[in-house]
Order: sequence, then structure tokens, then C-alpha cells
Amino acid sequence: NLPTVFVVTPTFKRFVQKAELTRISQAFKAAKKLHWIVVEDSVQKTDLVGNFLKSSGLKYTHLNIRTPFTLRRHKKEFRRLKPRGVEQRNLAIEWLRKNIDPQRTSGVVYFADDDNTYDSQIFDEMRWIRGVGVWPVAFTGGARWAGPICKDGQVVNFHANWGLFRPFPVDMAAFAVNIKKLILDFPKAKFIALKRPGMLESSLLRQITTVKELEPVTQNCSKVYVWHTRTETPKDSILGERGLIKKGTPS
Ligand code: UDP
Ligand code: MN
Repeated sequence: NLPTVFVVTPTFKRFVQKAELTRISQAFKAAKKLHWIVVEDSVQKTDLVGNFLKSSGLKYTHLNIRTPFTLRRHKKEFRRLKPRGVEQRNLAIEWLRKNIDPQRTSGVVYFADDDNTYDSQIFDEMRWIRGVGVWPVAFTGGARWAGPICKDGQVVNFHANWGLFRPFPVDMAAFAVNIKKLILDFPKAKFIALKRPGMLESSLLRQITTVKELEPVTQNCSKVYVWHTRTETPKDSILGERGLIKKGTPS
């Protein structure tokens, strides 16, 4: 009886949204026993995401919650000060608490943003995590990768471009949590959008675990299965291409 991987993805409307969802969904489809919880940052669920999920062939749950104005990152605001996707991930945690009985369904939760790239191998490794498991993520500034340094099945240090003072200097894409931890052991734990930069991952992890307890995944943290990719925003001008739009727009 394979444990289920619950993948939580906050997502929001923009030109590249469907391309991002397509790319990551194909990695998810290649994994066994995966349940995708997609949380739109919107007042209402959109048809684009709804139809996409329906035809995805994946087991999924479609939720939505709009980030309140004060928590939204506006133009020119420093990236690390306003973490994104916070309300969305917390809503997914609440959904799990209401809908999943960990005595009947074993599994882990993974917070997979829509802009990263995932090798489906990671899901087969993370599903066996008993508490909180960690692994490296590639491309994060000059450090080239960020995450735990592991020895003999324990995390002995962290590698990062920045912020080694953080209690858990790991990326959102670098850990997964057994659902028992979040549902039974720590039924109130959630992400907190702190004013200090880069603290979102730590805000949850320090409520539920310690560095000593972390379980190394990906062969003692020696393999990269997740990349911090970034999709270029396409040009949105149709100057000089007006004829194209009249011929109809494919979807
Ligand atoms: N996101 C969101 N609402 C927003 C901006 C982002 O729900 O207004 C989602 C986004 O799709 C992604 C996650 O939140 O899945 C993290 O966002 P992003 O990758 O932009 O944050 P960063 O990696 O820069 O911290
Ligand atoms: Mn991102």
C-alpha cells in the first residue's frame, strides 16, 4: 500500500500559467499515487485551471483563496519581504485536516510552486518520509544549489547563497512532511508571513521539527531532482501584429 504524495501548488493568472501547469503536471503524471491540490490565488476558481485539471488525468482538488491586499507583493517591493502563496498553502493544509484521515491514508505533503521543474523520481523518494524529509534544490543565486549537507543519514549543515542564520535555511521545494505531523501531531501548524525575509519555510518547520530530526532524501542529499527554473514573461504587445488577433485566438 503505497503512501500518497499530496502536492500543493499555489498558482495565479498570468500569460505563462498554463505552460507552467502543463510542465509540472507531466512530472506529476509520471508518479504513482499522487494527489494534486491546486490553490488559485483568485476570488473565484477560473475555467482555465478548472478545465486544465479536468483533462489532466491526475487525481486533484481545486481550491481558491485570494491573497489579501496587504499581503500581496506590489511592484518594486523587495522579493524576500513578501512571501507569495502563503494563504494558498495554508488553505491546502486545512483541506487535508478536514478531508484526510491519516489513520486510513498514509502520505506526505509537498509544497510545489508552479514555476519550478520537478523530476518525478523525487515523488517516489519522498513518499517514505516519516517526519520531515529534506534534499537539495539547484539554481539559487551564486551558490548554484541550496539545501542540506548530509552525512550518515543526518543533516550536518546547510549550503545556501544567503541567510544561513535562518533556523531552517532550505527552500520551499526542498522538503516534504508526513501528513501525520500536520494533521495529528501539530494540528495548528501553518505558514506565517513574517516580516523578516526568507523565513517562510522556517516559520512552518520550526513548529513541527528540529534540524536533528530531519530525514535526508535523494541518496543522502547527493542528487538534484528539483530546479528553481524561471520562465521568461512573453511580450504582450501586439503592435504590428494586429491581423493575427482578428484571425481568432487558440486556447
Ligand atoms: N503565487 C500566487 N500569487 C501571486 C504570486 C505567486 O499564488 O500573486 C504562487 C506562484 O504561482 C508560485 C508560488 O505562489 O506557485 C510562489 O510564487 P513565486 O514563485 O513568484 O515566489 P518566489 O519563488 O519568487 O518566492
Ligand atoms: Mn518561485
